[in-house]
Amino acid sequence: MRKPLIVANWKMNPPTLKEARRIFRKTGPKKTGAVICPPFCYLSALKANGAQDCHYEEKGAYTGEVSPKMLRDLGVEYVILGHSERRKYQKETDWLIEKKLKAVMRAGLRPILCIDKISQIPKKIKRGYILAYEPLFAIGTGKPCSIEKAKKMRDRIKKKVKVLLLYGGSVNSSNAQGYIKEAGFDGLLVGGDSLKPREFIDIVKKAC
Ligand code: PEP
Repeated sequence: MRKPLIVANWKMNPPTLKEARRIFRKTGPKKTGAVICPPFCYLSALKANGAQDCHYEEKGAYTGEVSPKMLRDLGVEYVILGHSERRKYQKETDWLIEKKLKAVMRAGLRPILCIDKISQIPKKIKRGYILAYEPLFAIGTGKPCSIEKAKKMRDRIKKKVKVLLLYGGSVNSSNAQGYIKEAGFDGLLVGGDSLKPREFIDIVKKAC
């Protein structure tokens, strides 16, 4: 069995670079082997390997946006796409997310596509895609999906597509092992607890 892929989504945290450096020093890829996705503004200083989103164009008049090519140039390897918070607050649609998926692949990066239902799986799955099953009720709520329910969804997704599949939604050090060892996920997408170094290190240990 390959080593589980653990991905940290810091969302719009922490509020200072100093704090970001402190967390990264303790939890970054060198310490844990994890993919860390901080806000864009910290990517360069941390030399982080993951990002939380990107635009679908390489460059141009798109104020406030960041392109996959720019991320690649900074040493980023993975990009989260279609997170439910972006679908909700930035009104991202499946159409837009598919455009981003293609752009990320063109730039030689690996997309981590977040879905909460089967219908969000793209029609054409390319080698290199990573999916993250994130049930809406479990994201940032402290109410994780039961291992049984997660396993059922894992089996349904795996029957449909052969991709690396992560679980995300209120992952902590008590449930991390279950999603990998019992439910059979290939890794985890961790939000809130990825900002707590002790907890995150424990999650990685339990999962691996
Ligand atoms: C996430 O941001 O993708 C996530 C799963 O968050 P949390 O772990 O806080 O539920």
